[in-house]
Amino acid sequence: MNKITFIGLGNMGTPMAKNLLKAGLQVEVFDLNPNATLELTEMGATSASSLQQAVIGADVVITMLPAGQHVQSVYLGPNGVLESAEEGTLLIDSSTIDPATARQVATQANEHGLAFVDAPVSGGVAGAGAGTLTFIVGGSDESFAQARDILQHMGKNIFHAGDAGSGQVAKICNNMMLGILMSGTCEALNLGIDNGLDPKVLSDIMLQSSGRNWALELYNPCPNVMETAPASNGYQGGFMTQLMAKDLGLAMEAAVASHSSTPMGSVARNLFNIHSSQGNGNKDFSSLFEFYQQQSKG
Ligand code: NAD
Repeated sequence: MNKITFIGLGNMGTPMAKNLLKAGLQVEVFDLNPNATLELTEMGATSASSLQQAVIGADVVITMLPAGQHVQSVYLGPNGVLESAEEGTLLIDSSTIDPATARQVATQANEHGLAFVDAPVSGGVAGAGAGTLTFIVGGSDESFAQARDILQHMGKNIFHAGDAGSGQVAKICNNMMLGILMSGTCEALNLGIDNGLDPKVLSDIMLQSSGRNWALELYNPCPNVMETAPASNGYQGGFMTQLMAKDLGLAMEAAVASHSSTPMGSVARNLFNIHSSQGNGNKDFSSLFEFYQQQSKG
């Protein structure tokens, strides 16, 4: 393989591209913000001055962009990836976006003789740095096999969810469940505290009872119950509230399109949206616990 082009060198893209360089691969980087690529060029990546230049001659193009509209413009826009890539190039989009856009890009990519997979990730910035991300891939068997060879340098678990768009569907189902579980965990802990319980004691009880879940086990939202959780570090680091609100919005869009009933997801979306709009968008999503505490005080 000659050249991997990485587009979108933000919080996630930078550590992911670093892991490709560490694996000895030739990486070219492009970001709208030229400063975003400096760390990588210092490590040996080449930097392109335009999207078109970045894509020409690439064997693989990986994108890690904020949202669906950015993916649409980078792939489908003038001088974009589909116009510039040579036939046979493998395209991997790891952004978290709506499944409909992922399917649209996949269809148009195939019409240009290009293989496309959606490959959103779970594991956050820490997982990106450690090379332990989970990739959830949508695409044909053949494209998945090709993509896996590259993704293994950035992640530990690589799942094939189904056809194009399925990676995004699986990712938003998981995050909708996470949002619901985190809301429920905050709610139960707050109720216990309001009724005189020690949150550590209540957490230990629920961990050995039927309320046990991932948030309680690894990510307790109440400060000072679990030393390693963002809650015990001022809700810094971790997974930002605004990103959880975004993912719950994507889940609701998907639910509308498929006529699925998602009342719990809808409540979770409202909770995280309100919490985010009250100035908590950059805090870890477990800070929703503070929202419950404020309601109790009010
Ligand atoms: P970010 O905002 O830090 O980075 C996005 C980068 O894309 C920026 O550097 C921006 O300049 C660049 N960009 C935007 N439009 C562009 C364009 N047209 N051409 C080239 N570059 C462009 O975002 P992030 O935190 O790295 O997240 C990226 C994606 O990963 C999002 O879809 C997010 O939902 C998903 N995600 C993030 C996390 C996390 O913890 N940060 C975890 C899992 C998934």
